[in-house]
Amino acid sequence: MSIRFRLTAWYFCSLAVILVLFALAAWFAMGSSMIQAVDHDLRMRVEDVQGFIDRELASTPSELVEDFAEQAGLGLGGGLLEVRDEGGRVLYRSARLGTWQPGLSSAAGPAIAYETESGKGPRLRVAAQAVDVRGRRFSIGVAQPLHEFQEARERFEGILLLLAAPSLLLAALGGFWLSGRALAPVDRITNEARRISISNLDTRLQAPPARDELHRLVFTLNEMLARIDSAVKRMVQFTADASHELRAPLTLIHTAAEFSLRRERTREELLGAMRKIMRESDRTARLVDDLLLLARADSGGDESALAPVDLRASARDAVEQAVILAEPKGIRVTAGIPGEPVLVEGDEPALSRLWLILLDNAVKYTNPGGHIHFDLVTVNGHAEGKVTDDGVGIAPHELPHIFDRFWRADKVRSRSLGGAGLGLSIAQWIVERHHGGITVRSEPGKGSQFAARLPLAAGETLTGGAAESQRASRPHSG
Ligand code: ADP
Repeated sequence: MSIRFRLTAWYFCSLAVILVLFALAAWFAMGSSMIQAVDHDLRMRVEDVQGFIDRELASTPSELVEDFAEQAGLGLGGGLLEVRDEGGRVLYRSARLGTWQPGLSSAAGPAIAYETESGKGPRLRVAAQAVDVRGRRFSIGVAQPLHEFQEARERFEGILLLLAAPSLLLAALGGFWLSGRALAPVDRITNEARRISISNLDTRLQAPPARDELHRLVFTLNEMLARIDSAVKRMVQFTADASHELRAPLTLIHTAAEFSLRRERTREELLGAMRKIMRESDRTARLVDDLLLLARADSGGDESALAPVDLRASARDAVEQAVILAEPKGIRVTAGIPGEPVLVEGDEPALSRLWLILLDNAVKYTNPGGHIHFDLVTVNGHAEGKVTDDGVGIAPHELPHIFDRFWRADKVRSRSLGGAGLGLSIAQWIVERHHGGITVRSEPGKGSQFAARLPLAAGETLTGGAAESQRASRPHSG
């Protein structure tokens, strides 16, 4: 069922209810105001009759009865009148009353009382009152037939019924037209959105000029499109880069195999080719592992539970490996690790990997004979692992890119060092998974400092970062 139809139906129903309530209220109000007018009239008549008795009191009872008959004929009491004396004797009773109201005035009290009587014939509104006229008590009853009143009311009912159906129909048509107009942009937006596919994700929906809900909807959809567009572009770029990176070692493997097969080779030549194939296939395997890890990270699939871990273990582990990596280049590696545990909610293997990525980079981009320092400290409820080197550094315009996938300042150099430009992307993802952040300070030719901050596990005290010995003189970082 379309919104348009539902809106019209709701509109129709609520209007019908309002109309019915309105008609009922008008009907009752009309009835009560007419009865009020009739009652007012009846009271005036009782007063008239009382005045007449006052004037004629001196007459004998028989004269009084005659006067009554005469005056009633001239309109006294509206022509429907009954008067009794103290003894309840009827002094006068209009002939037109007939048998309608036996004892119109018999129940009269000192206060005027009104009543609607419906005997045989048309309904009557009656008023009765016992009045004192110069010490003598008379009961006066007057009546007014209600047929005119009833006719007026019936006419009114007829008008209401006659007007209700067309006005409801008109309102429903108006509602249908209005909701159609209001919803027309929705159809347009739907059609526009239908035309957007992966091949034209840069298309944007046209926002209606009025700054209304639809404008906001289109704005939000456009923002979503922009996000999807940039995510798809990143994915396409990632796939292209990944294929490119995988191609290089595969070509090398192929070339080595071809070299071995082309003609008879010596044992040394064959061993050399085999080693090359091994090295390149190792590299390919590492690259595939990294790609898988990032793919899992993107899909949010790698969400192994975090548990309290002491960062010192992973840090010592990584520093030990860095010492081995740095040895061939004659680079000195020092570390400052606190005496007390540094607990974070973490994933131990991922944290080891994080420190190793930073330390491995430092080794790769530091010249032989350089110095690398690793520091683990706690500051303001955070643990901070800092890797400082006095290596080649990073140019300021390159800093914003270093965490991008496959980005390398010097592709040839990085590849020859075994890097594919994924290390820092993985490091950043690990830090973010631990609800932390990573920052870098660097000056070309002087060195770099990478600092990964992770929130301490709840309950961990905020110590100032007391570090174990081994603290070497700090290399410069920009
Ligand atoms: P790679 O596999 O190339 O090391 P990364 O993502 O780890 O990839 O690093 C991206 C780039 O950032 C590197 O190619 C290098 O240019 C730069 N970089 C990273 N760490 C350092 C460092 N400690 N000193 C200088 N440059 C660095």
